[in-house]
Amino acid sequence: IQHRVMVPMGISGEISEIKSGNLTINDTAAVIVDENSVTHHVKLAHYWPVRSARPYKARLDLSEPLVTGKRVIDLLFPLPKGGAAIIPGGFGTGKTVIQQSLARWSDVDVVVYVGCGERGNEMAEVLNELPKLEDRTSGVPLINRTVLIANTSNMPVAAREASIYMGITIAEYYRDMGYDVMMLADSTSRWGEALREVSSRLEEIPGEEGYPAYLASRLAEFYERAGHVSCLGSSPESKDDPTYDGSISLVGAVSPPGGDFSDPITQSSMRIAGVFWALDYELSRRRHFPAINWTRSFSLVDLSRWTNEEIADDFQAVVQEAKGILGRESELQQVVQLIGQDALSDLEREILLVSRILREDLLQQSAIHDVDAYCPLEKSYWMLKVILHFHEVAQEALRGGISLDELENAVFLQRVARMKELPYDRAVGRMQFLIEEINTEFGRMKDRKEKADE
Ligand code: ADP
Ligand code: MG
Repeated sequence: IQHRVMVPMGISGEISEIKSGNLTINDTAAVIVDENSVTHHVKLAHYWPVRSARPYKARLDLSEPLVTGKRVIDLLFPLPKGGAAIIPGGFGTGKTVIQQSLARWSDVDVVVYVGCGERGNEMAEVLNELPKLEDRTSGVPLINRTVLIANTSNMPVAAREASIYMGITIAEYYRDMGYDVMMLADSTSRWGEALREVSSRLEEIPGEEGYPAYLASRLAEFYERAGHVSCLGSSPESKDDPTYDGSISLVGAVSPPGGDFSDPITQSSMRIAGVFWALDYELSRRRHFPAINWTRSFSLVDLSRWTNEEIADDFQAVVQEAKGILGRESELQQVVQLIGQDALSDLEREILLVSRILREDLLQQSAIHDVDAYCPLEKSYWMLKVILHFHEVAQEALRGGISLDELENAVFLQRVARMKELPYDRAVGRMQFLIEEINTEFGRMKDRKEKADE
């Protein structure tokens, strides 16, 4: 990224001198003379009180998704550029793995990763790996676009608060240069605990569970610094560009004790953040990763205009249908638990089959597989499309008298299971071909059935 020289807030005037070449942050990069003929020396860095949000011209709509390459997020619970999300989950449910993979794959210009009160070896891992990994499009080492703030569990608790504010201020600094920034904080619960400790030593009146009464407002102030804004100043490319904008997307991990989401930090954060990726102990135990629970999670933003225009005009319809099937599965599972499999009709059992395919072949995604670790939005959409196409023709076939056994053993289901491993450049074409194959195979099933009937 191009590191732009920023004029400190409150200074305006004419540039009388500008330097080129190698400079350190303490050297004067430009001289500005204001209307009272006072000269100001502008440097590559400037001071800012980290607890105050940096100003901007105006807030803009959140209309574009931040593509993370994780299917369950991009399809079901998308995060907009400029939005705030929280990832609550008990110990070992995958918060850190998700955050690290967001840092790697998200389509943003700058990533600020704050390790707040967690284990030091996790930070060391990030620091070791990022220089070896390259950006998908530009081929630049990822470390070049990443700011790491290491605040490990053995440091004094007051430093946790400093690391969070420092992170968000650096994020704002790059946003003000017109970039899309993502800030990741792992974990905001450690910060909350630090607030509790400091507050009790100050002998303040405690609120819920000993946390200070101002916990919710502190968290709100922090999450409100996310956003898509029109920046102050003017675009370096064109002076009159009215759309000189930048964004900060915030993702905070929350580690409630015992994975119990009723704890004050989870509850207060949930009220402010528009996106909630609830990690589930049960899913992580079954090694369903990412362990994002699809019934408890939500995303309050509407990105349908963007996705319908940029990806496909039935994008939202397809996603809604998938959510419907997953919802129907939990209802049917309850029936099965009460009175057993036999109570279900073949049409209902097919729903269980499709939802299993949705869970295993679409929502599950490896964070370490070469191809599967990142899934472009268009590929995610087509994967879903293939599965739903299967569902549609399968229901029709069952009504036409074809048996469920035959469907379950269809050979193309193995190919559906391997869609995640299709390389990006050929994925969409292959999946469109797979739809044809599904049709052909169903045609054959129908012929066989007709012959048998004769
Ligand atoms: P947390 O930060 O919530 O305590 P971690 O992110 O450290 O949990 O994850 C714990 C373990 O779960 C990891 O060491 C890894 O083995 C497994 N895991 C988590 N997410 C994934 C994933 N997406 N793919 C594969 N394994 C995962
Ligand atoms: Mg962790």
